[in-house]
Amino acid sequence: MINLILLGLPGAGKGTQSERLVDKYHLAHISTGDMFREAMAKKTPVGLEAKSYIDKGNLVPDEVTAKLVEERLQKPDTEQGYILDGFPRTTVQAEMLEKITKKLGKELTNVISIDVQEDELVKRLSARYMCRTCGATYNKLFKPTKVEGTCDRCGGHDFYQREDDKPEVVRNRLQVNEKMNAPLKDFYQKKGLLTSIDGEQTPDEVWADVDKVFSK
Ligand code: ADP
Ligand code: ADP
Ligand code: ZN
Repeated sequence: MINLILLGLPGAGKGTQSERLVDKYHLAHISTGDMFREAMAKKTPVGLEAKSYIDKGNLVPDEVTAKLVEERLQKPDTEQGYILDGFPRTTVQAEMLEKITKKLGKELTNVISIDVQEDELVKRLSARYMCRTCGATYNKLFKPTKVEGTCDRCGGHDFYQREDDKPEVVRNRLQVNEKMNAPLKDFYQKKGLLTSIDGEQTPDEVWADVDKVFSK
């Protein structure tokens, strides 16, 4: 059983590595960012509340986010294991998560932190763009579509840049997250769950380090 948290600042490569983990280990990928973006697109009550925070690069309140995760962890696809991507972001959320997983009998088995310097993150995030149809992530510098203007995954032609990836928001978003990241890593270090990985390698090299954690 793999019940995993992927820690890492925005742009560290959590989504990229999650995709590979899902393929290999059939885990449920739980990305709070993706869930909020979906809720915003559908204009649900949670989506409308979240939008005002997200567009400025601020965090959505803990209660709103934890409730979303608690509901998601009750779905049957998490029974073979799950990846939490983007949650918890604060030690308060980490404590909320501990209660939730205990209650559901789905306690954590591993925490992996993907570590990348701020300058590199700004570079990556400013160059990230998304397929509007399927949500696939690309990067102008590091991972363009194979055919210019066509999504590799769904063949769509409509791309956009996230509001919160725009340069004026990215710095604030990184600062908001950086302040909380170190205490969060400490929290899981103390519990003996944490492995830190150098996220400034190529995606394949990062993947090799991630996979090593489970093939021991
Ligand atoms: P990234 O992929 O760049 O790490 P996410 O897609 O995870 O960013 O998150 C986008 C935004 O959604 C965050 O900036 C924040 O406003 C909101 N969000 C996502 N997860 C959380 C969380 N655990 N707590 C509070 N807000 C969150
Ligand atoms: P996160 O989910 O942590 O916000 P993503 O997986 O979306 O991060 O990656 C952020 C951006 O950086 C994407 O455009 C992605 O294609 C690119 N990227 C991911 N991993 C790497 C890497 N190891 N080296 C260079 N670019 C990367
Ligand atoms: Zn697509």
